[in-house]
Amino acid sequence: MDRTIKLYQKNFYQKQCDSMVLSTVTDPVEIKSLGGIEEKSSFCIVLNQTIFFPEGGGQSCDIGLIENEWNVIYVFEREKIIYHQIRLNKEQTIEQAKAMVGHTVSCNLNWPHRFSNMQRHCGEHILSAVFYDLYGGVNRGFHMGDDYMTIDINLEENPEISQLTDEMVKKAEWKANEMIWDNLPVSIRYFDRREEAEHLPMRKALNIDEDIILVSIGDENYAAGCVACCGTHPQNTGEVGLIKLYKWENYKGMTRITFDAGANALIHCLDQTAINKTLCRHYSTDLHSLIGKIDLQEQKNKEIRQELYELKKVFIEEKRNEILSAVQENSGKTVIRIYPNFKTDDLLALSRILPDKLQNLVVLVSPLENTVILNCGGSHDCGKIVRDNAGVWGGKGGGKAHNARAMFPSRQNLECFIDFLQKAF
Ligand SMILES: [Zn+2]
Repeated sequence: MDRTIKLYQKNFYQKQCDSMVLSTVTDPVEIKSLGGIEEKSSFCIVLNQTIFFPEGGGQSCDIGLIENEWNVIYVFEREKIIYHQIRLNKEQTIEQAKAMVGHTVSCNLNWPHRFSNMQRHCGEHILSAVFYDLYGGVNRGFHMGDDYMTIDINLEENPEISQLTDEMVKKAEWKANEMIWDNLPVSIRYFDRREEAEHLPMRKALNIDEDIILVSIGDENYAAGCVACCGTHPQNTGEVGLIKLYKWENYKGMTRITFDAGANALIHCLDQTAINKTLCRHYSTDLHSLIGKIDLQEQKNKEIRQELYELKKVFIEEKRNEILSAVQENSGKTVIRIYPNFKTDDLLALSRILPDKLQNLVVLVSPLENTVILNCGGSHDCGKIVRDNAGVWGGKGGGKAHNARAMFPSRQNLECFIDFLQKAF
């Protein structure tokens, strides 16, 4: 089969084309082995020419429609043939798909998706050029995800700089956006063989031998802006619209920059604005005073937590004294105390300050969390009581002879267990 003619390389702005269907692949196993994605009801179509960019070079593939009804969900290249994977809808059949062979079909790109990819890819070129130009930083790793992109900047070629500071990164962000405002041309040059291209000024040495595409930002002799790339790019940097850096951090001795460009970057900024607006309303302040207000609130919360801790301590000590007098008054009798506002942690705090040598069985109950804590100095084995009986009412737990815990699935089960303790001990 002849190689697919790549219309997207000749004109990045072509949104529609007519193509001849050369063949289809309908066997899921074959689709997978060629490089397609796993998809229940799908088939692949091969065209004589295409506007659909296949996944590659860190850029996701194009999506769109064929004959306005066949949904192209994935596009990939295998041995210079481009495969368009189509997901069948409920009305479509494999027989209809096969019948397209030999016919001319219309292809339509999902243009917002493609244009966003063009903006993002070009944004990555611009930002990498800036880091190279300003600091000799080489982009050693590129990732293009749905929500952000990353580049890993390595300073090995510039021994004068050991690390990128916040100021240096911010300067690079500003300079990258200045290159957008300058609306520089983005030019593409094609070379059949490596020898024709390798002597040209470029940011990164070539690692392919044929079908080389050099993409240049600005002047073609500007080495920082020139790199081999098979992706799709706009004609001018102005179309990128915006480059926004989200964060930067050390990564394996390099600086990993998380960022985005174009429509995606704008969406991110709009989301952040909405969050800022909500926070400002919540704290009744403006953006400039927001952090100060949050810090102040945190400080207040810390003080309140400390105050609460002190109050609880006094309260729990009072409860302990009350239990101790009850133990003295009812020698040997079980003491059950239900604390409607106590959580398990509060029961544990109280349990911890009870004396070890309690003669009575002391039962602490939290109806809030359906938890019971048993304490005893020797007359009863708390762990055994829980192990032998809690399960009857769906309870779980365990513990040692002097201290054990049981948790119940409902208030009713908890009450049954307490009732049992009252009667049995
Ligand atoms: Zn590119």
